[in-house]
This record gives sequence, structure tokens and C-alpha cells, in this order.
Amino acid sequence: MRWGAPLMASATDARYGQKESSDQNFDYMFKILIIGNSSVGKTSFLFRYADDSFTPAFVSTVGIDFKVKTIYRNDKRIKLQIWDTAGQERYRTITTAYYRGAMGFILMYDITNEESFNAVQDWSTQIKTYSWDNAQVLLVGNKCDMEDERVVSSERGRQLADHLGFEFFEASAKDNINVKQTFERLVDVICEKMSESLDTADPAVTGAKQGPQLTDQQAPPHQDCAC
Ligand code: GDP
Ligand code: MG
Repeated sequence: MRWGAPLMASATDARYGQKESSDQNFDYMFKILIIGNSSVGKTSFLFRYADDSFTPAFVSTVGIDFKVKTIYRNDKRIKLQIWDTAGQERYRTITTAYYRGAMGFILMYDITNEESFNAVQDWSTQIKTYSWDNAQVLLVGNKCDMEDERVVSSERGRQLADHLGFEFFEASAKDNINVKQTFERLVDVICEKMSESLDTADPAVTGAKQGPQLTDQQAPPHQDCAC
């Protein structure tokens, strides 16, 4: 797959083809993965974004699941195929097939769980090992509504993100803080990267046509939790 072309579902996403074959009305499709330790809130985050719902009960994700959401960004209709990791998260051995073709990652930890924060480095290594070099990553400290139980300060989160070269948000799937912003920022950095690659790519080599005309946007400052 190359940057710049409307991205189609991979061959492994047979379900996608069936489910969405009637809706081909989009300019780009981005595959996004949400990864991180079990119970940090990945499924809740996805449900909040895709369905605007939240359930306080912990229901362990069974099997690999994804949701589709189409948004307008930079004058483009962008279809997001957002994958939620299941069971494997406990073993941190998500298969390469799962990472293949992902253009963006939301790497999540729980601000009330030190262990989930300590695991971020390992998750980052997994991304670097198995994904495209061009894949973009946002680090998200979830559950920022639980200030009383916080064990990971915003500062440590930001420092780790800087160290790893990722952007950083604190968020709450429960209180709907920075959920939409996280996805939109991820889409923007993917678009920026795509535009950059097209600018530098030799069309004779890549076969790339004119890339998306993205307006110059200043990156917003880190948006930490407002709670
Ligand atoms: P996953 O294993 O990473 O998919 O985590 P889940 O989405 O299943 O969430 C694990 C537990 O944390 C559930 O009981 C959720 O209700 C809870 N949870 C998820 N996000 C938040 C949040 O932002 N704030 C609070 N207080 N609880 C959350
Ligand atoms: Mg889950």
C-alpha cells in the first residue's frame, strides 16, 4: 500500500468488505489500532468515540473487533477503521497481521495504574517492530476523571511521550474528555505525514499522483486533562 492512494481494506478484512461494500463514498481510509494493557479503557474509548456510549461494567473484549466511523477533515471524507485489541493484550503478543497496514496507533495507559504506564515502552517497541515506519502514534493517559486515584502525573506522561516521539493527551472515556480530539489529532498527523511523503516522493518511482491539498495547520499545544 502506498501513501496518497485511496486506501482499501486489506485482504484479511473480509468482514469489512461485506459490511461496508455499499459505502465507498470516501477519499481515504485509515486503519487505526488501539493498544495498551488490559483494562486501561481501550474498548470504552472506542465505544465513546464511535457510539457515544459508556458502560461502567468491565467486559473483557473477546476476539478482535473494530468499528467504522467516517469524518470530514481537511476537506476530505476520511473513513476510520478502528481496531480494538482483545485477549492478546495480556501477553503483549499481538500478531504482525494485526499491525499490518495500520496508519495510526492510540497507545493507551491508565493514569491510576502504574503497571500500565510502565508497559508503554514495550508497546512502543511492538509498534516499531511490526508496523510501518510511517505509522503515527498518540500516547493517551486515560481515566483522567479519577484524579484522586492518579499515580502517573501528567508531567511523566508528557515526558515519556516526548522521549518516544509521540504526541500526548490525557483523556477520559467516562467523562468524554479529549476522546474526539485524540482521534482528530491522530487523523491530522497521518494526513500531515501523508502530505509530507507525497511532497518528497518521486512520482516516477511511487506512481503517486497529486496528494491531498492540506492547509498548513499549526499543531495545537498538548491538551491535557481539564478535570
Ligand atoms: P480495555 O480492557 O482496555 O478494553 O478496558 P475497558 O474499556 O474494558 O475498561 C476497563 C474498565 O475501566 C471498565 O470498568 C470501564 O468502565 C473502566 N473505564 C474505562 N475508561 C474509563 C474512564 O475514562 N474513566 C473511568 N473512571 N473508568 C473507565
Ligand atoms: Mg477491551
